[in-house]
Amino acid sequence: MLTCWGTGDGTALCDNVGTVKEACGVFGIYAPGRRVANLTFDGLYALQHRGQESAGMAVADGDTVMVVKDMGLVATVFDERTLSALDGHMAIGHTRYSTHGSSDWAGAQPVYRPVGRAGFALGHNGNLTNTTELAEKVGMLPGSICTDSDVVAELLAQSFTETGDLATALCAVLPIVEGAFSFVLMNSQRVFGVRDPYGFRPLCLGRFGPPDAPEGWALASETPALSIIGATFVREIEPGELVVIDEDGVHSVEVPWLKSVSPRLCIFEFAYIARPDSRLYGQEVHETRCRMGELLAAQAPASADLVMGVPESGVPAAEGFARASGIPYGQGLVKNRYIGRSFIAPEQKDRADAVRRKLNPLRDTIVGKRLVVVDDSIVRGTTQRSVVRMLRESGATEVHLRISSPPWRWPCFYGIDTPSQEELLAAHHSVEEMASVLGADSLAYITVENLKAAIGVGEDGFCDACFTGAYPTAVPAYAAVALGGTRRREAEAAEESVAYQAVLPGV
Ligand code: SF4
Repeated sequence: MLTCWGTGDGTALCDNVGTVKEACGVFGIYAPGRRVANLTFDGLYALQHRGQESAGMAVADGDTVMVVKDMGLVATVFDERTLSALDGHMAIGHTRYSTHGSSDWAGAQPVYRPVGRAGFALGHNGNLTNTTELAEKVGMLPGSICTDSDVVAELLAQSFTETGDLATALCAVLPIVEGAFSFVLMNSQRVFGVRDPYGFRPLCLGRFGPPDAPEGWALASETPALSIIGATFVREIEPGELVVIDEDGVHSVEVPWLKSVSPRLCIFEFAYIARPDSRLYGQEVHETRCRMGELLAAQAPASADLVMGVPESGVPAAEGFARASGIPYGQGLVKNRYIGRSFIAPEQKDRADAVRRKLNPLRDTIVGKRLVVVDDSIVRGTTQRSVVRMLRESGATEVHLRISSPPWRWPCFYGIDTPSQEELLAAHHSVEEMASVLGADSLAYITVENLKAAIGVGEDGFCDACFTGAYPTAVPAYAAVALGGTRRREAEAAEESVAYQAVLPGV
């Protein structure tokens, strides 16, 4: 859910200026007889990694819909007293990622609209690509829109008012909504879950009780949010599927999508976003990350004494690299578990300082060693530059960087908040130049082909646009011109080489 709205001159105002940030987390539950507010709290807690800016939930008891949301982490927004006041048998919840510059209450979700018997609430994971057009359609003035989710809520409110039925309103509105969305919605009677036809962002279904006598149902962005509330994973919601959950169980409703397309689940969910214990496309994410490291070791070997990962997301791929290369695995950096995340610091110098506060080297492990250091991605290069410097200052004789996702050269328009393309280090540097900028003895990225091989479900079914520039949908109008220029430069550069690996002279 990206805050982004058009301006009169056709440009756009975006809060999309930080580093890579997670998508949002969404959750839904229909479970008579259970404390749904407490279970929603637990589900959101399991999805906290997808967003730390704000948290909220809406709870319904058949007559009323109550919404509580605020800035902060799940455990900051809700306590036992708040939860005990939220009585009902169904709920939806949301965690929103953190940004600087647009961190305000108005962006917190669920969004609520007082239409119908008790109104409806909506939570959104993803980012729409035609927000400006939709806002014009619904008659919202520039400046009156807080988020793309607000625009959808407004469209639904108009249609709901006309049709008197939220499912009918969804079928009318969803086909004109473009981009990435996994929505959870709720009115006083039913819970809804829907994924866009590409299925950019995940959404899964869980069940309470045995298959032949279900006692309730849950929806969540990731599978661990189901298991920790005691629900059994049933299946992923299909791309383009709308499910309705009520006293009769779970039903799929056919949405008259304007076009049928192939699924494009975000491949970066596997490399970084999703929890390691999540299952996507039937694969456990941790294991796919280990395989990324194994394939990276075969693709870009290094002579070294120790393999280490940049905590925490680089660790599984480092384990895989060590396993495949036969080089011992060790922990060379300790992460302070209680520190805020580095992207909160807005200035480059502050970000670098934040890396030092977050990560500290284990000198006795490192001194005199040639290191392979595995990380999940390079965005601006702030973390890697600091890490390489720290390791050298601690006595490492060589530092070979290995990255378990391909070079990040293109911005994301589907719900992952990336910096502008100018700030993406790989967008304007060759891999060789990047190794030099980062101070590494060598640098290598996994190829797109090996990334897909590591996931192990075939070549198709993924969005990989941030690595390839092949966007599955039209990009927002404000971005198209700038991307056109980049494409021309890319085409020229491609004639020179498509490099994933660089070893600096003298190494
Ligand atoms: Fe994911 Fe990248 Fe596609 Fe965005 S552009 S959805 S981050 S693969």
